[in-house]
Amino acid sequence: MSMNTQGRPSAPTENAPSFTPKTFTGNRGLDMEEALIFEFGRYDVTGIDLDVPDDFVSELGGHDRKDTLELPGLAEPEAMRHYVRLSRNNYAIDSGLYPLGSCTMKHNPRLNEKMARLPGFGDIHPLQPLSTVPGAVELIDELAHWLMTMTGTFAVAMSPKAGAHGELCGMMAIKAAHTAAGRDPKIVLVPESAHGTNPATAALLGYKVVSIGAKDDGTVDFDGLKATIAQHEGNVAGIMLTNPNTCGLFERDIIEIAEAIHAADAYFYCDGANFNAIVGKARPGDLGVDAMHINLHKTFSTPHGGGGPGSGPVILSDRLAPFAPLPFIRKGENGPELIETNADTQDGEQPFGRMTAFHGQMGMYVRALSYMMSHGSDGLRQASEDAVLNANYVRVGLQGIMSLPFGVRPCMHEVLFDDTFLKDTGVTTLDFAKAMIDEGYHPMTMYFPLVVHGAMLIEPTESESRAELDLFVATMRDLVMSASKGETDRFSAAPYLSPRRRLDETSAARKPILKWTAPEPADVTPVAAE
Ligand SMILES: *Cc1c(COP(=O)(O)O)cnc(C)c1O
Repeated sequence: MSMNTQGRPSAPTENAPSFTPKTFTGNRGLDMEEALIFEFGRYDVTGIDLDVPDDFVSELGGHDRKDTLELPGLAEPEAMRHYVRLSRNNYAIDSGLYPLGSCTMKHNPRLNEKMARLPGFGDIHPLQPLSTVPGAVELIDELAHWLMTMTGTFAVAMSPKAGAHGELCGMMAIKAAHTAAGRDPKIVLVPESAHGTNPATAALLGYKVVSIGAKDDGTVDFDGLKATIAQHEGNVAGIMLTNPNTCGLFERDIIEIAEAIHAADAYFYCDGANFNAIVGKARPGDLGVDAMHINLHKTFSTPHGGGGPGSGPVILSDRLAPFAPLPFIRKGENGPELIETNADTQDGEQPFGRMTAFHGQMGMYVRALSYMMSHGSDGLRQASEDAVLNANYVRVGLQGIMSLPFGVRPCMHEVLFDDTFLKDTGVTTLDFAKAMIDEGYHPMTMYFPLVVHGAMLIEPTESESRAELDLFVATMRDLVMSASKGETDRFSAAPYLSPRRRLDETSAARKPILKWTAPEPADVTPVAAE
């Protein structure tokens, strides 16, 4: 066994037993098996220990609950352990590298969390009179200012609550602009490498989606795009394009694309979820973008694993700004004012409606602004540069043994491999990803984008140190070597070491069990002796 510099075994697997013991508790050493709280909570127990006061008189007029609530109770230490153990079943950016492409899983500085919990931000209520929360309104306005400065635009709709919601907002603004101009185009162009939310958004608004093909280098086929626009002359509402695209490549024709779209009286929606690659380097407004959502929860930190809250403000060009949804902020004599109803709008403001009940995700606004202000403009630019550098570091470390679908060339913030290198090994992209779990890594994004066979999309982000990346690259190389040597056992039933193995994800999605039902009590009747 080899030892590290502290004298601890650095390769414990060499000594690992060749069988996995079946434990009595179901725990695997310090990885504990955790049951549902319903399975082991007790109705007669609670973590709170308060006596009923002596002079207690119920004011419920005889409607007091007679039976128990039937909610599982735990003593305080049990409750604490339950949630800590559950949290250990979750892989998080706080536990290791999280290479999901397209998702930008980056370090979330603790400073942001501290700021979001300041009582003046954390404890306010959306129905509070605005006069009591001027600081919160000013923070939203300040964040809007940063977003517009970074993107070179003049309006931003702050309220959308996620990227996909932002897409809906931007496309609704586009639809409103067409309607105001007396037009009713029916088609939205979407490149075939697009994120699934793009065509879904267009379809939700009743548009027909026409797909645009890609060139051999993975970027949009501009000639094909022009031909499609000509074919549907007068009937194209806009294009929804991601830049950098979902293959991790910069669309170099973006300005020509914008011009062609504008010449057709259509609008350019840019999916800005990949903004992390270009912050401080290129401004979408300069590229001809009319609307773009910015995933605060990707580009500007904020934990978003496990379905946590998102926030997707949408920047708007001059042409779309008048249609920004309510509520929006207008600079008044006494500082920023929140315009909440049509009655308060002025000439030229034609909000298309409202995206959310209130004002958006306050906690995310605070985190994003805290991240921006603590980095400063130079720091934000460096974060983008480092994100791109890190992705290219991984690319160079792996391109000799993993296959790049579009040839050896620099990528942006994420590097895309296909499964050609696994050909004839008997190992699939899925098997490969599952074996990464045994190595302690969350798998990369798999089978997306769909345009590439067996896609593996890796986005390390700027958070990772060179040492972390070296270990990741070495691990991936080890897995590739193992696959090419025919060690299929390491892959075919992986993961071997996780609390759960391969789940039936289809059944989980198609026939989800959403409610726990108590099992039938076990039959404890003694078996009669013969
Ligand atoms: C994440 C993502 C979206 C959707 O954002 P959500 O906040 O998950 O709704 C859209 N497009 C791309 C390219 C993305 O990566």
